[in-house]
Parts: sequence; C-alpha cells; structure tokens
Amino acid sequence: MDFQLSEEQRMLQETVREFADRECGPLAAIWDREARVPDARVFEQMVEMGLFGMCLPEAYGGGGQELLAAILCIEQLARISPLCAAGVFESNVGPVRVIERFGTEEQRKKYLPLVCRGKMQISVGMTEAEAGSALTDLRTRAEPDEGGWRINGRKVFCTGGGHSEAYMVYCRFGDTRGAKGIGAMLVEKGTPGLSFGKQEQYMGLRGMPGSDLVFEDCVVPAENLVVEAGGFRSLMECFDIERCGNATMALGIATGALEVARAHALERETFGKKIAERQAIQLLIADMATRVDAARLLVYRAAVNAGAGFPSVQETSMAKVFANETAKAVTDMAMEVLGGYGYSCEYPVERMLRDSRGWPLAGGTMQMQKILIASTVLGRRFDQRK
Ligand SMILES: Cc1cc2nc3c(=O)[nH]c(=O)nc-3n(C[C@H](O)[C@H](O)[C@H](O)COP(=O)(O)OP(=O)(O)OC[C@H]3O[C@@H](n4cnc5c(N)ncnc54)[C@H](O)[C@@H]3O)c2cc1C
Repeated sequence: MDFQLSEEQRMLQETVREFADRECGPLAAIWDREARVPDARVFEQMVEMGLFGMCLPEAYGGGGQELLAAILCIEQLARISPLCAAGVFESNVGPVRVIERFGTEEQRKKYLPLVCRGKMQISVGMTEAEAGSALTDLRTRAEPDEGGWRINGRKVFCTGGGHSEAYMVYCRFGDTRGAKGIGAMLVEKGTPGLSFGKQEQYMGLRGMPGSDLVFEDCVVPAENLVVEAGGFRSLMECFDIERCGNATMALGIATGALEVARAHALERETFGKKIAERQAIQLLIADMATRVDAARLLVYRAAVNAGAGFPSVQETSMAKVFANETAKAVTDMAMEVLGGYGYSCEYPVERMLRDSRGWPLAGGTMQMQKILIASTVLGRRFDQRK
C-alpha cells in the first residue's frame, strides 16, 4: 500500500492550488456576498487547463484520467470556495457520468464534447417535495408521446436549476411503483414545457444556483432517454461518483478552514505571545489537522479503489459521512481559533462554516448514508418501508 501521490499527481495538485489562490481567492467573498455565480472567465481558464471532463474518455474530448485526478482538483478549488470547484465537479463527477456510462453512442458524441469544452453544464433533478430520502417515491412521469416522451411533474432543490443547459431527470415510467419504475431522461433547457421555480436562497453556497424544475407536458425526443425503467440501480452506482465529489467539497472546505486557522494562530498575539504558543490553541489545531487528514484518507481510498470504474457504496458513504462531519466540526473549531474575527464577514471562516452545512444534506443525508454503511457492515438490507 502506497500513501504517496505520484509526481504527476503532485504537480496537478500544485498547479490547481496556485490557480485557486490566484484567480478565485480574491473573488470568493464577493461571490458569496453578492450571491453571484463565478465569472465565466474563471471557468474558461479551467477548461483551458483541461480540468473540465478530465475523467471523461479522450475519444469525446475528455482527459481520460481516473477519478482521483478530479478529486485532487476539486479539493484544491473547494479549499477557496465550493463555487470555484463547481464546474470541475459537474463535468467529472456529475450526471454527465450517467451519459458516459449508460448513454447511447449518439448521446455521448453529442453531449460529452460540449461538457469538456465548458459549453454545457448538466444538472441532476432527482428530489421531489415528497421524495427526498425516499427517492423511490418520485412521481415525475414520463409517458410515450408520438415517438417521444411527455414529462409531467416537479423537481426541487436542483443545483444549477435555471442556469444549466441540460438536466438529467429521474422519471417514473408507467405505473410500476418503487425503484423498478424509475429511469432517467435528458431534458435540454429551452424545451417547451420546462420552466424553473424561483432561485433558492440557502444559508451558504451563495452563488451556486438552484431551483425547482417544473415539467408541464414537456415533450422530449425519444433519443433523450438515457436510462430505461429498471435502471435505478445503475443510476445509484453512478451517483456514488457524485457522492465522492460531495465528500471532496467538504474535505476542501475543511482544509481551507484549517489553513486560515493555522495562519491566524501563527500571527495573532495575546498577552504578548502568539496564540500558536498556547496549548489550548495547539489542541484545537491538532484536532482539526487529524480530522482533515482522516477525511482525506477516506476520500482518496474511495477514489483510488474506484479507478476508472464505480466507487464502492461502503467506501463512498463512509467518506461522505466523515468528510461532511469533519467540515462542520473543523470550520467551527477554526472560528474558535479566530475569536471574534472568525464570526466577522471580513474573514472567510464564517462563510466556510455556512458552506459546510450544505454538503451533508445534498447527495443523501448523513442518516441515510449511515443506514447504507450499517447495511454493508451487517450484511443485511434494511427496507425502510417495512
Ligand atoms: C445544497 C443542496 C443541494 C442539493 N442539490 C440537489 C440536486 O442537485 N438535485 C437533487 O435532485 N436534489 C438536490 N438536493 C436535495 C437533497 O438530495 C435532499 O434534500 C436530500 O436527499 C434529503 O431529502 P429531504 O430534504 O426531502 O429530507 P427528508 O427525506 O424529508 O429527510 C428529513 C430528515 O429525516 C431523515 N430521514 C428520512 N428518512 C429516514 C429514515 N428512513 N431513517 C432515518 N432517518 C431518515 C433524514 O436523514 C433527514 O434528517 C440538494 C439539497 C441541498 C441542501
């Protein structure tokens, strides 16, 4: 077992780190304050660096790299702000992977190059008002219609809602209840019958757009069917890639908070001494660093073992739960280290703390992830409906 990154991976990490500090560092607070989507120029530079679609196949314009490469980049970007990591996240661990894995050759040829060039962002519409954790209760329906599909229903909390150029929409086909009736359809923005609810106002992640997706007799062509009814398991396998990305967003936030706390501890003096010399502060720093490292090991393990395939449910859920909890705890501890400055909007820690709260809810709650972990450890499936 080798715990070292390769020379190539270290260089990638360093390049993205410098880019994030230089290009996103000065803007992160402004994006948050004004709830503004990052400037296109920032993402264009990342496209030029080859970060968009770096894990998608080279044949479609991607970088052909394994999951860890994108994870390393997302971590470095999220250290500054999850907003600047959003494009690398969506184009490598987002629903585009469903097209890559389960789509038709025509779909791959049509959509993957656009995603790699930063010309198309694809969001996922799974959650409904009555189907969050209980996702298999979803009611958005897709019915055959003159050679295409007619979609009716409403999705909530869609990150990228109104902003993204296309949506991977989980639908119910026919009257089959539960997971067996669920598949996925790609719906492009601008398709008649698709509209968007008001933009979400979240506690954190301000500047990351999100809204309801409203489908009213929205007719999409037959060739937009990506996963047929019965493919829910495949969708969830693919979604574990996104969960690794979610865990990495949390890891990045925790890493950023530790870095800010460390710098402050080495700079701030009280009673004529740097606070870094106080054991109370040292214990906080030690605790933060240990948690961040443990989260990193879990996230990297899930990504490395996934290679170019799907990560394991157990490793992904453990990484997500632990990294999500770490980001909450470490941003809170960073606030302690900074004292009143931690609570001030002039410093990044309060923003990091707010941003850390979104990731445990998105992509499946901590409780649901723990049920999955318990299920694999105990070797039993726990049907939540019985
Ligand atoms: C920032 C953010 C971004 C998001 N982005 C997207 C997106 O892009 N696309 C999308 O489709 N969705 C998105 N979501 C929605 C997200 O996936 C859901 O909010 C999440 O799955 C939880 O569903 P819910 O909100 O309906 O909570 P509920 O399912 O109502 O859960 C409420 C509480 O009950 C607990 N609970 C529920 N059932 C059980 C059980 N059986 N056992 C134990 N505890 C249980 C939950 O853990 C939670 O604590 C996003 C959410 C957030 C906050």
